Amino acid sequence: MTALSASAALFAGHVGPNAVSQLGAALLAGWGAEAARRVYARAGELAWLERPPAAMVPQERVARLHAALRDELPRTDALEAARDAGERTARYLLANRIPRPAQLLMRWLPGFLAARVLLAMIRRNAWTFAGSGRIVTQVPDRRTGRGWIEIHDNPLATNPCSWHEGVFTTLFASLAAPGARVIETQCGSDHPGSCCHFEISLGPGDAR
Ligand SMILES: [Zn+2]
Repeated sequence: MTALSASAALFAGHVGPNAVSQLGAALLAGWGAEAARRVYARAGELAWLERPPAAMVPQERVARLHAALRDELPRTDALEAARDAGERTARYLLANRIPRPAQLLMRWLPGFLAARVLLAMIRRNAWTFAGSGRIVTQVPDRRTGRGWIEIHDNPLATNPCSWHEGVFTTLFASLAAPGARVIETQCGSDHPGSCCHFEISLGPGDAR
């Protein structure tokens, strides 16, 4: 992930391509080609379904695609598809972007210390998850295992932000504590001038 940070300035207003490509993969796997085509067509992005982007993508177009998901599928299905896409994104980052030695270190560290390293990575690569938005974090408390992530001016806010919940939960469960959960308790799309607030819980006995 760190290797990508240097190019962040070149991609202002863009987010990682996984916000698009993994949504297509989730829809095709869980809802079929017809549903996937309806969602992408509604956003005017059928070409993205046929040839998933491999480079950074403009955040406005990604936001339109995620809005089309909500419009085309029943609410519970849309939330499930977005979460699945987020989990797939995290698995892609684990397989391709987060260096193996850093992963081994985090899995070896106590949960709250691993979470500290992971949150620093998330902040350094904020554009991957939040485009032009700003990420602020609170490292989980050693005793309670609780911390938080906030995305200010989240360009992908969809209330609730299930894609982000899927990404963050999978990253924390893989690298910090197996029982970790990251849940959005307030969405910035509902409160102008506010932010998306995600509560991190490392789970019982995992704060160590
Ligand atoms: Zn949100």
